[in-house]
Amino acid sequence: MERLTSNRIYFDFNATSPLCESVQDWLTNGDFSVFNPSSEHTSGRSSRLRQLNSQALVTKILGLGKSHEIFWHSGATEGINSIVKSLAIDAKENKSPFHFFYFESDHAAVRAQVRFLEILGLKSHCLSIDKNCDFDINEVVERINKADGVKLLNFTWVNNETGVCWPLELALDIKKKTQCLIHVDAVQAIGKIENWNKLLTDLDFYSYSGHKFGALKGIGFTLLKKGTDFKGFIEGGSQQNGLRSGTENSMGIESVALALQYFSDNFSPNRLEQATRFFEEELKKIFQDKIKIIGEDAKHRNLNTIFAVFTDAKSDALVAAMDMAGFDVGKGSACSSGLSTPNKTLLAIGLDEALARNAVRFSFSPFYTLDLAKGHISTLKEIFLKFI
Ligand code: PLP
Repeated sequence: MERLTSNRIYFDFNATSPLCESVQDWLTNGDFSVFNPSSEHTSGRSSRLRQLNSQALVTKILGLGKSHEIFWHSGATEGINSIVKSLAIDAKENKSPFHFFYFESDHAAVRAQVRFLEILGLKSHCLSIDKNCDFDINEVVERINKADGVKLLNFTWVNNETGVCWPLELALDIKKKTQCLIHVDAVQAIGKIENWNKLLTDLDFYSYSGHKFGALKGIGFTLLKKGTDFKGFIEGGSQQNGLRSGTENSMGIESVALALQYFSDNFSPNRLEQATRFFEEELKKIFQDKIKIIGEDAKHRNLNTIFAVFTDAKSDALVAAMDMAGFDVGKGSACSSGLSTPNKTLLAIGLDEALARNAVRFSFSPFYTLDLAKGHISTLKEIFLKFI
């Protein structure tokens, strides 16, 4: 995966990923499915067949070949919008109450649904996280059980900022105790946790974005449990059995299957964990009491992310210095008009505003190695020492 990052060292895999090798090779060979899969002619039918083969492979690799069906879209933002808005509109039509539950650490695509639900006069509920970025399951169950009608919970499997991971078994436990529908935001799972391909058949929806694991950009998919009463929110020509209208992105779909096959064949959780934890320990040795690793005491962490707050150094300056030295590293807070806004997850776990502006996120390639990490740390150490 490092192959396309030219002379840069890329440590921002939670933002997006370079294309994985199987996808690069396929693009180089130029064997594409370019025809409209809805066309009746031979070329159209061949495109449809390729799409069916790709989706069978994807659901098989993810272990949901029998229990779930798939619909393709442009990425998880669309998937999340589609699930929440479709279920909300349906509830409104049926004059049923609707309650949407989400966590304060969820991605903006999840939190942004609140406004639309408000317009429809439907209720949203923000659930809190603790100082380790975990949550209290009893509190969550109690809050959901107080609601009536259709209840939907967004459950982020792996957090994009902190790398904290919530096992799917927790979601299943909540489902059993509340009978709510569960949408798993699975965007950050592939290549970042050991059990990325062991999905639970009892959960209702899972959404993904291809560009997070080496497929093309502009393609994503949602898996939904067979038999779920779900009408697509994007309406038009009724492609994909009406689950999502619009001509399918055939090349994108094929790239997802190729990328997943690549992960299935090549991803080694142990190799990645060794490299990431080595890097983290070295950071701690260099910065000592001037670094705080977010989520370090969480019950489960992913394998590729270090979310660090630097108590003295300014993260803007630190990131700029790394950038000049050839390292692409993520910043923990959004920047508008030249000013960093405090990171909302850091505020939620109790950090003050100054610290919440001061985070840096290292998110490594799923194929990162200890040898690479050793070399990178020795280069970065010289830069870091100037900030202490
Ligand atoms: N959910 C999570 C956890 C993410 O990390 C992202 C992207 O960063 C999204 C949803 C939205 O994905 P996309 O921007 O590909 O639509």
